[in-house]
Amino acid sequence: NSLLRFYSSESAARQETATPSGRVTKFRDLETLGVNNALVKSITEGMKYEDMTEVQSMTINAALAGKDLVAQAKTGTGKTLAFLVPILQKILADQPALAETRRPMRARSDDIRAIVISPTRELAEQIAAEASKIVRGTGIKVQTAVGGTQKKMALQKMRFEGCHLLVGTPGRLADLLTDDRSGVAAPNLTALCLDEADRMLDVGFDAELDTILKALPDRKETPRQTLLYSATMPKDVVGLARKYIDPTNFEFAQTVK
Ligand code: ADP
Ligand code: MG
Repeated sequence: NSLLRFYSSESAARQETATPSGRVTKFRDLETLGVNNALVKSITEGMKYEDMTEVQSMTINAALAGKDLVAQAKTGTGKTLAFLVPILQKILADQPALAETRRPMRARSDDIRAIVISPTRELAEQIAAEASKIVRGTGIKVQTAVGGTQKKMALQKMRFEGCHLLVGTPGRLADLLTDDRSGVAAPNLTALCLDEADRMLDVGFDAELDTILKALPDRKETPRQTLLYSATMPKDVVGLARKYIDPTNFEFAQTVK
């Protein structure tokens, strides 16, 4: 399996380098990397986090540089912030006006810039809650698309408030993105995150993930960054990475702790 072999050689190379160049360890250092002030402040002053966790430190810089990412890290290691920082920064970089206005005029349910796919409703809601905290003062609108909620109500909220970042479960996301009447579309998608990829496949969401992938704009025409996180790296997750990750521009990170 060439991709897996490539991953292993990449991680071996990483382990040889004690401090990979450009690796950041403190959230406050993100400002020197050009990350939006409000985002950094929400983390350092709002959440009061100073030091990054290992997975954050290993991946945020590469993701900010625009690389696709396959990251293997256990539960509870801080993956949420690891992907939210580069994704939110990318949304702001693409639409700088958002940073200056609290009421973005251009937020619409068909102008989704980033999608995070998560295996369960609870996890999706946690991610959306964390994202909503961080984006305060930036104008970014975060919405959820999860099962067990009224589709109509969720769609109304999305249409009324707009949506730049959509966090959802595979079933509901596949449903919304393929339903022409939903008004939910992502022709300008610039970032995609698959969180807990192994769990999503364990639950049997492979068909839904394929549906989502097909509903998204062609990567060749609308380039996007994809970040994939998984606690384990079995064959089927590698297969998923093959489908979603840009093989010419990605980084593999594996945390020890
Ligand atoms: P994972 O997705 O890897 O399971 P989470 O992103 O849910 O982990 O983070 C686990 C917990 O650690 C959360 O309560 C989160 O707020 C907290 N956390 C994340 N990053 C940091 C950090 N750099 N410093 C302190 N706590 C953190
Ligand atoms: Mg998580």
